[in-house]
Amino acid sequence: MPEHLLYFDYAATTPLDPCVLEAMMPFLSGMSGNASSIHQVGRAALQALDDAREQVAFVLGCQPKEIVFTGGGSESINLAIKGVAMALRAHGKTHVISSAVEHHAVLHAIDYLVEYEGFRATLLPVDRSGRVNPADLSAAIRHETALVSVMYANNETGVIQPIAELAAICHEHGVLFHTDAVQAPGQLPLDVQALGVDLLSLTAHKFYGPQGVGVLYMRRGTPLVPQINGGAQERRRRAGTENIAGIVGLATALTIAERERAQYVHQLRTLSERLIGGVLQRIPHSWLNGDRTCRLPSIVNLGFACIETESLLLLLDQRGICASSGSACTSGSLEPSHVLLAMGLSPEEANGSIRFSLGRHTTAEQIETLLELLPDLVAQLRAVAPCA
Ligand SMILES: *Cc1c(COP(=O)(O)O)cnc(C)c1O
Repeated sequence: MPEHLLYFDYAATTPLDPCVLEAMMPFLSGMSGNASSIHQVGRAALQALDDAREQVAFVLGCQPKEIVFTGGGSESINLAIKGVAMALRAHGKTHVISSAVEHHAVLHAIDYLVEYEGFRATLLPVDRSGRVNPADLSAAIRHETALVSVMYANNETGVIQPIAELAAICHEHGVLFHTDAVQAPGQLPLDVQALGVDLLSLTAHKFYGPQGVGVLYMRRGTPLVPQINGGAQERRRRAGTENIAGIVGLATALTIAERERAQYVHQLRTLSERLIGGVLQRIPHSWLNGDRTCRLPSIVNLGFACIETESLLLLLDQRGICASSGSACTSGSLEPSHVLLAMGLSPEEANGSIRFSLGRHTTAEQIETLLELLPDLVAQLRAVAPCA
């Protein structure tokens, strides 16, 4: 990343850790080998694949067999949701439940099931703080419910959902539970037994690993219709020659993220509390979106009355500051965030909100620079477009 840039968009993607790159190098620069080949080059690739699978299983507290490597977060999520739904349809299960604040990978996978596969879907509401009410889940579960998918932590607000509680409710009713845990590594515990989840999705590039490689944890015995058909890789759950370099990178990055979790959380909390406190104190008519305490310390979503996020993002970008309107998928369009709308914000409030996400290379000095700049920029925008 260029030196002069102030990067506050770690929730979109993180820079590759040099230690991760080093672990990947033998599989990038020479011959990586095909893990399905019988000869020694293939066996070396298979060994690296097995080792990576064990490392990931160790962090998640599961069996290596329960790990499926994929091409990223969206692929893991699609495999979990479509794969389980299609496998259970034969048993009369034609209903899925999720929440209104999910990533588009979840929402659009569910749209697909409804549009093309004859499923019905229920999206649970959230309150103003961005949290799902477990009682709403209990009330939404039906005899036909196949699967519930609720994210661990939201990518726009950082708000954390009560996953263990939601999973327990599902299991009382014999329903399977998936969580999109893409934003969690390095900040929240990932032990799948303690969480009680049946399926969990991750993607390496959100925790300093490479882009284009992900994990789906699937509890032993979980029914699944594969979504990519071909060879027998990944125990027939995901065909295609494995991305050995990427998988080795993912396993290394996840191990580091877990090892440094306590320290990372502490560092991020100090920085984000300073940012939140500074903005709320210095900028009138500003607010924090999402629960103040039950959230990832890496994500700070702030609202400013009478401004357009797009204009503020442009002014920040001119000064080398990278932030986001929340979801990368909707930036470039003027659609207000579905996450903020679901939390009860008006379209104007949602369109005046901006996400700063912090990470490993964020410094106290960078936060001060941002705090010095923001009040002027917000005032500048309010001056040219005064509130009606
Ligand atoms: C980034 C993200 C995804 C998608 O992951 P990709 O690797 O980009 O496919 C899914 N869910 C959440 C919460 C995310 O932040």
